[in-house]
Amino acid sequence: DVVPVQRALISVSDKTGLVELAAALAATGVEIVSTGSTAAAIRAAGHDVTDVSAVTGFPESLDGRVKTLHPGVHAGILADLRLEAHEAQLDDLGIAAFQLVVVNLYPFVETALSGAAPADVIEQIDIGGPALVRAAAKNHANVAIVVDPDDYDEVVAAIQTGGTPLTLRQKLASLAFEHTAGYDLSVSAWFTENVYDQWQDDAAALDEDILEEFDAVIGDTLSVEMPFPETLVIEATRSAVLRYGENSHQAAALYLGEGGEGIAQAVQLHGKEMSYNNYVDADAAVRAAYDFAEPAVAIIKHANPCGIAIANPKAPDAIASAHHRAHDCDPISAFGGVIAANRPVTLGMAETVSQIFTEVLVAPGFEPAAFELLSAKKNIRLLELPADYHRSSLELRQISGGLLVQESDTFDNLDSSTWTLAAGDEVDAATRADLEFAWKACRSVKSNAILLARGGASVGVGMGQVNRVDSCHLAVLRAGDRAAGSVAASDAFFPFADGLQVLLDAGVTAVVQPGGSVRDAEVIRAAADAGVTMYFTGERHFFH
Ligand code: 5GP
Repeated sequence: DVVPVQRALISVSDKTGLVELAAALAATGVEIVSTGSTAAAIRAAGHDVTDVSAVTGFPESLDGRVKTLHPGVHAGILADLRLEAHEAQLDDLGIAAFQLVVVNLYPFVETALSGAAPADVIEQIDIGGPALVRAAAKNHANVAIVVDPDDYDEVVAAIQTGGTPLTLRQKLASLAFEHTAGYDLSVSAWFTENVYDQWQDDAAALDEDILEEFDAVIGDTLSVEMPFPETLVIEATRSAVLRYGENSHQAAALYLGEGGEGIAQAVQLHGKEMSYNNYVDADAAVRAAYDFAEPAVAIIKHANPCGIAIANPKAPDAIASAHHRAHDCDPISAFGGVIAANRPVTLGMAETVSQIFTEVLVAPGFEPAAFELLSAKKNIRLLELPADYHRSSLELRQISGGLLVQESDTFDNLDSSTWTLAAGDEVDAATRADLEFAWKACRSVKSNAILLARGGASVGVGMGQVNRVDSCHLAVLRAGDRAAGSVAASDAFFPFADGLQVLLDAGVTAVVQPGGSVRDAEVIRAAADAGVTMYFTGERHFFH
């Protein structure tokens, strides 16, 4: 399992510890093959080094784009010398094997953050480096791959005592794949922000003709008068013609109602103009985050939360903690999300948000350092809510040929002492707090809504399904191994025991739901059989 090292390939952008490494390898008789500036640094320190061009018989070319990308190099890294056939082929081809590959990649992230021109950033996308790293990591049965100068000492010590053991090579291979995966994520995030978004913008300029037609049909004021609940008059004034509506062929405008309520009154501090969908999502995000008295963050995609959390009460930076926990619920979906915080954004929160492609961040303020950091990003929209933000007390929804008006579904005073115990034993205070959190958070999820939570953070959200069983499956799937030990909330009763059973099978420890189904007895029995506590709230929170 121990592989002695005779030949090493070294190609590093970060030259930290390079000379010491080369000296140690040279002292143990290892042949060093190296690229451009890496070879120059080793040679300048007085050690022998073979240029990679001497191995490939091909010059380092195209401004360094092609240096090690050559079978003479890659066959030497990828040969599995446990196989006689591979050994024989290397011999036939006259290629010598490497037992050690030391590579760190072009400084892509540093270049992107320095504000360099896009062409310069693109030039820093390392191609040959990741190929070396992945090839050596794949063949860790034969080769040790080192991507971090911090690991040089351990590897040198192993080589000096006979070679690299398999366990070390396995550990290094795992770190290596982590390194290249992180690198590619940074590249893709940069592309999304700088290339893809620009493309979307260009594709979405509305036709002048459509705008004119729209203007003629819908003027700059809207007025609606209703005799219910009291006489209700809604006057709204057009404040902006939006670039387009829900899709790029739909004209759209924003009208502001009288009275200064809601998301429409948020002040935009930074970023591109808000889109129609941005407003819809920002409204949903604020609605979700402001249901909590504690510092809370909601991350919304397509009007649904992919993460809601309150701060860990012990965290020094409460709102950063809430964001971190909300993001952890579903990092995949959080990409390109709309985030609302119910406290001013701190530098700590800004540092995390700035790493994640985010469409909108809305909050009742930004610490100056947080604003400075976030406003350096051109694509994020920053919105400030008034300190006394509150939602409109009425909600209107248009149906073709008419208008639906209802009181808003408010959630000001949650009093869980009014819940009735339907199955199992009363829970402890911590579980009750989790159930209260889940019940509140569930209200922001479009029906059918199932939300799994733990420690004041959602861990799995099932939404928008046409039956409750599928929402349960979705919540459990998203929670993964976090489903076991979590609590569950359901926005409406379980019409049958089947949906609840999905949650019980996944290991949910307590459930809160409105109750009131004709088959409640069946649902209660399922919870009781599983030894799981279930509370009925007596109140439903559909949200369509
Ligand atoms: P050098 O020592 O040649 O000045 O630069 C070392 C860097 O080149 C390392 O970061 C390594 O990942 C990268 N590198 C090695 N081989 C190739 C290649 O064939 N193409 C590209 N684009 N980069 C390479």
